[in-house]
Parts: sequence; C-alpha cells; structure tokens
Amino acid sequence: MTVISVKNLTISYNKKPAIKGINLEVGEGSIIGILGPNGAGKSTLIKGILGLLPSETGEIRIFEKPVKEVLKRIAYIPQKEQFDWDFPINVSEVVMMGRYPYISLFGRPDENDHLIVKEVLEKVEMADNQFTQIRNLSGGQQQRIFLARALAQESDIYLLDEPFVGVDAKTEKAIFELIKELKEKNKTILIVHHDLSKVKEYFDKVILINQTLVAFGDTDIAFTSELINKAYGGRLTILQKAEQLFKN
Ligand code: ADP
Ligand code: MG
Repeated sequence: MTVISVKNLTISYNKKPAIKGINLEVGEGSIIGILGPNGAGKSTLIKGILGLLPSETGEIRIFEKPVKEVLKRIAYIPQKEQFDWDFPINVSEVVMMGRYPYISLFGRPDENDHLIVKEVLEKVEMADNQFTQIRNLSGGQQQRIFLARALAQESDIYLLDEPFVGVDAKTEKAIFELIKELKEKNKTILIVHHDLSKVKEYFDKVILINQTLVAFGDTDIAFTSELINKAYGGRLTILQKAEQLFKN
C-alpha cells in the first residue's frame, strides 16, 4: 500500500525554488532517512508533505487522500529551532497537544487522553518531569518530549526533522528504539538526519536530496559514495567522510 505519494512537487520561497520536481512513493513499515547538505530543502520537503507550505506544482496523496483529510494520521516533529521553548507551558501540556486532533473544539481532554499522556511520558522516561516548564529542559529532554507528543497522537506516519540534534548518545539510542517499535507496528517514519555514519544502521531507505531528488531507494542501493557526492555537491569535508564510510 502506498502511504505517501508525492508527484512533481515544487515549492518556492519568494519565487526561488527550494525543492523542484520531487517524486516519491513511500510504503508502510519502514524507516526512511532524508539526507542532503544544509539548505538542500529537507525541511521544506517535510513541510510540503504536511501541506504546511503552498506548492507551486505537484500533488501529494496520503493514504490515497488529500493531506487535509488525514492530518490526524500524521505526527510531525519540527526542527527544534522552530519551536518556542520559552513559552510558559509544562511538559504534560505539550504532550497533550498530541491529543488535540481527538478533542472536539470546545471539549476537554478526557480520562483516556490523560492516560495516554501518562503512558507516553513513561515510555520516553520523562514521567518525573511532567510538571517541568519546557524552558528548563535539556536538549535531550526536549526531543524526548517532542517524541512523546508524536506518540500521543497515535498516528500512522511520523515526520521527524532532525530529532537527534543536541541529544546525548543515551537519548539518541532510546529514541531510536522507540522509532523501531513504531516500524514493527507497520508505521511509516521519515527522519531528516545529518550524521552519515549512522545511515546504514538506521534506515531501510534513503532520500538523497539537493533541491532536486538525487536518489531514493533501499539504503544499499541509494546510499553509495557516488550518489552521496552528487547530493553533497562535492563539499570536501563531506566527501572525505563519505570515502571513509566506504573503506570497510
Ligand atoms: P534544509 O532543511 O535541507 O537545511 P530548508 O528546507 O530549510 O533546507 O531550506 C531550503 C532552502 O529554502 C534554503 O535555501 C533556505 O534558505 C530556503 N528557505 C527555507 N525557509 C525559508 C523561508 N521561510 N523563507 C525564505 N527562504 C527559505
Ligand atoms: Mg532543515
């Protein structure tokens, strides 16, 4: 079954294209890495899939439907900088946001919503911090909370923009274990990621992007030094890293 279908997607800012003519067909039950240099359009692609940005050309279908009809089924973790961490709100209130799609306009969270928030906070090992103001969280704790909010939404698609940035190794491992659990439940997970050394370990498939789509496919096939070099446009440091990756 096709979970996400993107056809000829072009998105521009002030008439300047950030991504051009992107085509993707994503199935269920896989973990997919979105890779490319800074400014390649990775975040734009994710926001485009979510319908957060107007597209110049193209069509997006999620479960064969327009995105607007299935937003409940898509959980999104934005890049950390795009969130106001100074906002006066506590941990469990942020996680409860994941339940909003289920709560009617003038309704309030019910017992089940509270139970789910409690459960996901335990899952990400943040139950002791439920009343902590989010401005007082460490980088690793912030990402745990983001993940908890996404889990609380009980979605089928998870779009995660750099979930491991500013995160300690222990948290990265814990988060990745939970992502693997989602995959086992046949969920579809797209992760913007920049640490090339983890790609083979983490991802079933990769999307290599640099404004246009450079490659999309199984990691073994699409994550080759040639295609990585192409996506990263010959940046020396990255090139060297890519060479090292393929030494063994
Ligand atoms: P990535 O996530 O791969 O680093 P982005 O998708 O954030 O890349 O950005 C792609 C391009 O679009 C970059 O050149 C960036 O400067 C530009 N861009 C991103 N957001 C905006 C915006 N809100 N207004 C204008 N240009 C933007
Ligand atoms: Mg980005």
